[in-house]
Amino acid sequence: MEYTKFFSNVADWVKPNPIRRLSTLINRPGIISFAGGVPSPETFPSEKIAEIAQRLIQERGAEVLQYGVTRGNRQLIEYIVEQMQTRGVKTSPEEIILTSGSQQGLDLLARLLAEPGDIVLAELPSYIGGTYALNNVGGTLTGLSMSEDGLDLDAITEKVLKMRDLGCQVKLIYTIPNFQNPSGITMSLEKRKSLLALASELDLLILEDDPYGELYFDTPPPPPIKSLDTEGRVIYLGSFSKVLTPGLRTAWVVAPSEIVAKVELIKESADLCSSMLDQAIVAECARQNLVQSRLAKLREFYKIRCQAMLSALEKFAPSGTNWTKPTGGLFVWVELASQIDTTDMLSQAVEQGVAYIPGAPFYVSDAKVNTLRLAFSKETPERITIGIEKLCKMF
Ligand SMILES: *Cc1c(COP(=O)(O)O)cnc(C)c1O
Repeated sequence: MEYTKFFSNVADWVKPNPIRRLSTLINRPGIISFAGGVPSPETFPSEKIAEIAQRLIQERGAEVLQYGVTRGNRQLIEYIVEQMQTRGVKTSPEEIILTSGSQQGLDLLARLLAEPGDIVLAELPSYIGGTYALNNVGGTLTGLSMSEDGLDLDAITEKVLKMRDLGCQVKLIYTIPNFQNPSGITMSLEKRKSLLALASELDLLILEDDPYGELYFDTPPPPPIKSLDTEGRVIYLGSFSKVLTPGLRTAWVVAPSEIVAKVELIKESADLCSSMLDQAIVAECARQNLVQSRLAKLREFYKIRCQAMLSALEKFAPSGTNWTKPTGGLFVWVELASQIDTTDMLSQAVEQGVAYIPGAPFYVSDAKVNTLRLAFSKETPERITIGIEKLCKMF
């Protein structure tokens, strides 16, 4: 049977996520893995969650095993309003919708905001889940380079005006300002302000994807771009995945109420509502202060691992190697001497018992093949040192 004649354009636009495709290679047992960009299961409060889940099902089964409203658990939305306030974002329940992970938020927003041919601006490198969601609706991703303090803003105006001259719609800029996945880079306060001014000048919306903002090691990152937004240009995505557990698939969007109302309608078609049980568990964790009270420990946990990775790189990296020095999050980004192709070298690394993610797939354009992403979340400090030494020797 020939199916392509039945397909829509989407079938041409979707492509497999190269990281997920590599997963059998990089998840070999025993391997020292810097590949998976996931939080450490050691940080999950599993017993507490089991207790909460059991009690919720027994005592409130009629509610948590039932369909619910598309907007999401009201109690949790109110908690998020409070939390956003502590990050400097004044908001209200009308401006919030809960989603099944930020990934769903990105997908719904892509469907709302982008159509075939639209240009979307994204960082080089950027988060594949985000750029693919925008790509899947026919958006054309255009890359913007980054420095140590975030997006390079100088070239944006010229780029946007040029594309508009060619008749292209440019509406959106997608950024991960805190401890970015994959680069570990954080955008400075100055650049946050400038980006916002630029968005206003060029009439763009900003998609601010912030799953790592609370995972700083010593000092908090600058306030969210959303907190500086006076015109309603910023759509903010937050998630419980990296600070509680990703399996509960609970995240949120903060946006002007008109945008949230449309996202709600699209979500209704996507899944009617997110898992009521998951949301109720997260709401109960929040009520018991389980999210906030664990943050100090989490930050210390990842800080020690990050330090182990940075010291090992300092000690073993071949000359000509550059890497980022993240102050939070889960990732270090490495740029090797230009002749090294990290995709070619992955199977050799795996043979030697170490896995990483090649950098090229994270670029929407102008890929640097000599880059790689190292996640320090999974391995102990001792294994991080051993793994980095092996990798560096190979390179
Ligand atoms: C992990 C991650 C997300 C998505 O997480 P969810 O589990 O879907 O909430 C979104 N953006 C970035 C940059 C991430 O690293």
